[in-house]
Amino acid sequence: MSLKNSKKIVIKIGSSLLVDKHKKIRKKWLSSFAKDIQKLRSKNKKIIIVSSGAIALGCIKMNYNKKNLKLDKSQAVASIGQIELMNLFSSTFSKYKINISQILLTLEDTEERRRSLNAKRTFENLFDLNFIPIVNENDTIATAEIKYGDNDRLASRVSQITNADTLILLSDVDGLYTKNPKIFKDAKIIKKVENLKETLKNINLRGNNEFGSGGMGTKIEAAKICQLSGCNMIIANGLNLNPIDKIFKGNNFTLFTSKVSKLDARKKWIISSIYPKGELIIDEGAKKALKNGKSLLAAGIKKVIGKFSKGDHIKILDKANKEYARGLCSFSSNEVEKILGCHSREIEKILGYTTKSEVVHKDDMVEI
Ligand code: GLU
Repeated sequence: MSLKNSKKIVIKIGSSLLVDKHKKIRKKWLSSFAKDIQKLRSKNKKIIIVSSGAIALGCIKMNYNKKNLKLDKSQAVASIGQIELMNLFSSTFSKYKINISQILLTLEDTEERRRSLNAKRTFENLFDLNFIPIVNENDTIATAEIKYGDNDRLASRVSQITNADTLILLSDVDGLYTKNPKIFKDAKIIKKVENLKETLKNINLRGNNEFGSGGMGTKIEAAKICQLSGCNMIIANGLNLNPIDKIFKGNNFTLFTSKVSKLDARKKWIISSIYPKGELIIDEGAKKALKNGKSLLAAGIKKVIGKFSKGDHIKILDKANKEYARGLCSFSSNEVEKILGCHSREIEKILGYTTKSEVVHKDDMVEI
């Protein structure tokens, strides 16, 4: 999918775009970025921003040098800086009448199926409310072993779980080069990467990790994740004002295209479950609805077989016990037993708490 046609775009901004070499906050830049976002929104695009900068802004506030920080100290500094970061976004974006919200993620939130589904729903609800989620790693909690440590890979996982069409990694390099451009004069930018494996064989990554805040290594890891999820990825220099507008109008960046269609990527993931934990038997009406691309609601479920938790893989069988689809169930088997056959609006009363209304959301379901 081309950038112009992308409906859901994740944009990652590195600390070096928010804070300059003299530790000054680049307010004018952020303002121009907000203007770009406003423009994208007027074209009905759904935007997620992944922003670094908690530690950088915390260091500015505390007058610390980032290089000398030990992990536990940097966690405290991130806690101080995260609120500075969000204040900065909030005051800048409000001038453009853009509402923002904050999502702090840890590694398990994207790696564990149930938690990633929850996160996905939160993103969707924020889109419905017309808020732009601003994501960062929960640096105050994450420890070295269970940490992303870089927002490039975090942003690619966010793109994957939210089914984004394009991820834009804005950094301080123009894109992926054949060699490190800071060392080799004859280094050339690669405009399009269709086959990442082949491209990697032909480039010299040595020393490439030294340029760019997150390094080229983490950006390539991010590209691998995107290629598997049917999401295109762009590495572009974001240092100039109106960086997104420039990407839309120009072509001085590296585009990694994914040949896998998003549906295929999800299909593979859902179908590749070796061991669905349970089965839902549905009536004819529900089967018809599913055929028309609708989600599975409690009203159409006749029976539940097996024990499973929320987010587990399940099979959906028709009344002749023939497997019709597979999906991820938004409720546990115990919950489905209580609500099967009921109208969606009764669910809250029966369970005693608010939940989603779809038992298997259409995005989490694949026809066999
Ligand atoms: N999460 C870190 C921060 O907000 C940044 C990680 C990165 O730069 O990729 O400071």
